[in-house]
Amino acid sequence: MTHDDVTAEPAPVPSDCLFCKIVAGEVPAEIVATDERAVAFRDIAPQAPMHVLVVPRDHHGDIAQLAAADPELLGAVVALADRVAGEQADGQFRLVFNSGPHAGQSVFHVHGHVIGGKQLGWTPA
Ligand code: C5P
Repeated sequence: MTHDDVTAEPAPVPSDCLFCKIVAGEVPAEIVATDERAVAFRDIAPQAPMHVLVVPRDHHGDIAQLAAADPELLGAVVALADRVAGEQADGQFRLVFNSGPHAGQSVFHVHGHVIGGKQLGWTPA
């Protein structure tokens, strides 16, 4: 994937998208916040006292595709992450979007990892 591959057209929704199923309530998750455009739920393998995933209700594969197709929706995802950090921790947070397998992305419905609740170091790689 390069930036040249990113278009404003949303990718087709895979019928087996796990996070679409969580948004639809078809797969259980511990949901901590929702709004009209995004859903936040606890990561099943938390890496910090607060580790919540924020996903748009609409399917987009990764953050670059989301930003190209619907920048306002990306803003809504960030706003919900900020709200979650205020409700679940001290309002401070790290927001990580893995984009592509080499970056560690394993679920191809864009999601921001909202991480915090402790003093974070900086060892991303
Ligand atoms: O960035 P990446 O795609 O690797 O993140 C996927 C995240 O989704 C992982 O942190 C994993 O623990 C989480 N997950 C989850 N609930 C599932 C499946 C995966 O919280 N049912």
